[in-house]
Amino acid sequence: MAVAPPARRATVRGVAATPGTRATGLVPVDLGSTTVEVPVVLVNGAQPGPRVAATAGIHGAEYVSIAALREVALGVDPATMRGSLVAVLTASPAAFAARTIYVNPVDGLNLNRQFPGDPDGSPTRRLAHWLTTTVIAGSDAFIDMHCGDMNEALVSFTGIEDTGDPAVDARSRELAEAYGLRYLLIGPSPGTTTTAAAALGIPAVLGEVGGQGRWPADDVALHAAGLRRVLRAAGVIGDAPDEPAHRSEILPTEAWMRSSTTGYWHPGVTVGERVEQGTIVGEVQDAFGVVLERPAAPMDGVVIFLVSSLAMNAGDPLLALAR
Ligand SMILES: [Zn+2]
Repeated sequence: MAVAPPARRATVRGVAATPGTRATGLVPVDLGSTTVEVPVVLVNGAQPGPRVAATAGIHGAEYVSIAALREVALGVDPATMRGSLVAVLTASPAAFAARTIYVNPVDGLNLNRQFPGDPDGSPTRRLAHWLTTTVIAGSDAFIDMHCGDMNEALVSFTGIEDTGDPAVDARSRELAEAYGLRYLLIGPSPGTTTTAAAALGIPAVLGEVGGQGRWPADDVALHAAGLRRVLRAAGVIGDAPDEPAHRSEILPTEAWMRSSTTGYWHPGVTVGERVEQGTIVGEVQDAFGVVLERPAAPMDGVVIFLVSSLAMNAGDPLLALAR
């Protein structure tokens, strides 16, 4: 943590909050071929303290994370806060509007593979650059809220990077443990927000709860409670929901399985299930039921996320295992 500056105006390109207030605004971001309006909430505490940044909707159809961040950013009380919260409620507005899976429809790129971005690149790379330089840079801690995409089920987990800087890694670990989800995965994740934060020496946590295009109240509450505990651990708010009864189980090794064929996906395992190396995890069939492939688990592990759509494309993820 940097030494806290005196309480001062918090600003993000045209949105400004004086100490003890909350400001909201749609911030125009020039992506070259188009301009998007990114909804930002700035909560500026009455007392000086750390700046925490949080994003949701990097993937536009991940509703639990979007709903939870809106709830927390619009609910915390600036009068009792220290420091500030910069909340980007839907970081990829065109993807949210179009309800797209994985990618930004403007150019078909996955925003969370383009960080730290490029100011002269394609629209999604420009958006990543804006988020890196305007939102992530200058923060004392960063939280990126996700969930399973429209076509994915998952067990709740946090993710952090192994940056090689012991102080940053210890702080990220502390924030992830405060989030308190079922599992804690440890990177690397090239091209993602947390990798961009790591490169800037900023402790960062990925949080994942729910999915499949739904946003049930229980999932939103779990995600929001985790964020509040992170804000407390970061020193921004004084009270938060109680710690969960169990510590996150740490899973440092991750393996993604991808389909090599296009067809109809019939999973044979469920999300959260523990499978052994060699277990057949399902099959991809052609339109008429002929089996095209029966992929086997490359290692023992927990099914962290599982694609739940019947439609499958060659190269798409099937599931991820972690242990
Ligand atoms: Zn996501």
